[in-house]
Amino acid sequence: MRCFVTLALGAVLLAGCTAAPVPGPTAGLSTAAATTSATPTRTPTASPSWTPAPTPAITARTLVKPLAGRRIVVDPGHNGLWTTALNRQVPAGNGFTKACNTSGTAGGDYAEHAFAWQLATVLVRQLRAQGATVVLTRPNDTGSGPCVNVRAAITNRARADALVSLHADGNTAPGARGYHIIVSSTMVGGAAVERASVALARALRTELDDTGLPRSTYIGGGTAIHSRSDIAGLNLVRVPGVMLELGNMRDEADLALQRSASFRAKVARAIVAGLTGALA
Ligand SMILES: [Zn+2]
Repeated sequence: MRCFVTLALGAVLLAGCTAAPVPGPTAGLSTAAATTSATPTRTPTASPSWTPAPTPAITARTLVKPLAGRRIVVDPGHNGLWTTALNRQVPAGNGFTKACNTSGTAGGDYAEHAFAWQLATVLVRQLRAQGATVVLTRPNDTGSGPCVNVRAAITNRARADALVSLHADGNTAPGARGYHIIVSSTMVGGAAVERASVALARALRTELDDTGLPRSTYIGGGTAIHSRSDIAGLNLVRVPGVMLELGNMRDEADLALQRSASFRAKVARAIVAGLTGALA
């Protein structure tokens, strides 16, 4: 199975892998922030300037490292430190504004930002082991910010092949559990980027279905894919991107998985496999 191949490969290659410097804490994340009250209308968007990056030439190196030549932005949701300053409004796309960032949810004493950061840490290591160039939107789990619109700007500036924003949900309905993948219906990159984002979501779903975390029981109608228009970190990007809600922290079974390092490593392998499938 593809995940195990990825793992074995990663484990071997990791030994010789040096951690590349993480770009500065200049930017940021997408937040599963509050829903806007109005119905967004699509602004005349520009130029479908995005075109898929050419598949890197097949060489001995790319045969060993399937993500060689690919640039991935990993966005660990929220911030290590939340302050009221993060309530300031920033552009969210579609003419709307929203808070710079939100605190995120938590399960007991385990905060969403910590889960996102811990998952990002292992994901970045695995992506680099597969040859990808990785850009993180925040450099640690102690700082505050950057805002969601800045995180989108980081993604655009990186000219990434894909953005994955890492989150967990906090739904209090009884029995609500599982993962879902958010895509934007109103990306500044236009329809081609939206379609590529849905294709990325499907490729990720194929792999995430094997992690032991069920598809969401409360959103997406069993598809685990949910389209929204209020996610700044997706609306404002010009490259394919998704937001992963990797379980419900208010559900004890999901939370037990999220707390497990082996589960986070398994999810990271699934994300690497999904990206590899989508970008191949
Ligand atoms: Zn979140």
